[in-house]
Amino acid sequence: MSKENRIEVLGVGFDNLDMREAVDAALTLIDEHSAAYIVTPNPEIVMLSRKDESLASSLKDASLVIADGVGIVYGARILGTPLKARLPGIDFAGSLMQELSKKNGRVYLFGSKPGVAEMAAKTLSDAHPGLLICGTQNGYFSDDTKIIEDINAAKPDLLLVCLGAPKQELWMQMNASGLDVGLMIGLGGSLDVFAGVLQRAPDRWCKLGLEWLYRLIKEPRRIVRMSKLPVFLFAVIWRRIFVGRNKREN
Ligand code: UDP
Repeated sequence: MSKENRIEVLGVGFDNLDMREAVDAALTLIDEHSAAYIVTPNPEIVMLSRKDESLASSLKDASLVIADGVGIVYGARILGTPLKARLPGIDFAGSLMQELSKKNGRVYLFGSKPGVAEMAAKTLSDAHPGLLICGTQNGYFSDDTKIIEDINAAKPDLLLVCLGAPKQELWMQMNASGLDVGLMIGLGGSLDVFAGVLQRAPDRWCKLGLEWLYRLIKEPRRIVRMSKLPVFLFAVIWRRIFVGRNKREN
């Protein structure tokens, strides 16, 4: 997957893939077993990366950058370079684990509050009987040496890193060279959803592009982070008017 062909939205390049293509690319990365990592930025993360160079660099270094938020899809369209699809990170990971379960793949769940990864492990094992959950670890730690040893001993094909942004992106970039894993994906609060601690928006809300509103109602503390969404759209429109359309590379 060439990084040159990425579609840029406010400085972050996104791979232009549908779900099937993204899952196939991830399976190839797992086969290569080089601890590559995938990121799933939404508009909040894009806005954060404009102020945080280390986050911007970790997004750039990722082997795949997937458009998680509906705002990214609108942004790319406004800039004249529409993306094929919005790929919610949690659905992408679900489809990938479905494929991995056919090969008895090994998955390690890292992140979230104590006990949550274990609950997610149970749900995922029930949903994908061929999958082997080879380890779990909560995301509240001060020294990760032991965690890395535990992950390497488990030799996962897939490591889900669910520490929230930007912690998970920086962690994956910093530790990739010392990890014996096939592939990593930074997935935010997904373990909470797999565990049933947090509910996803009903389908109708998702189809209307209102998943963000549902999350805001369920987790009002997100108001400060979500206030970046209108700023993001404003910045995209500003760029379109005063800088012009994106150049199409592919
Ligand atoms: N988290 C963690 N370690 C930390 C901070 C956060 O494991 O030091 C977890 C948190 O428990 C939650 C997830 O990371 O499960 C982040 O959730 P959030 O909804 O903030 O992330 P998003 O999905 O918006 O990136």
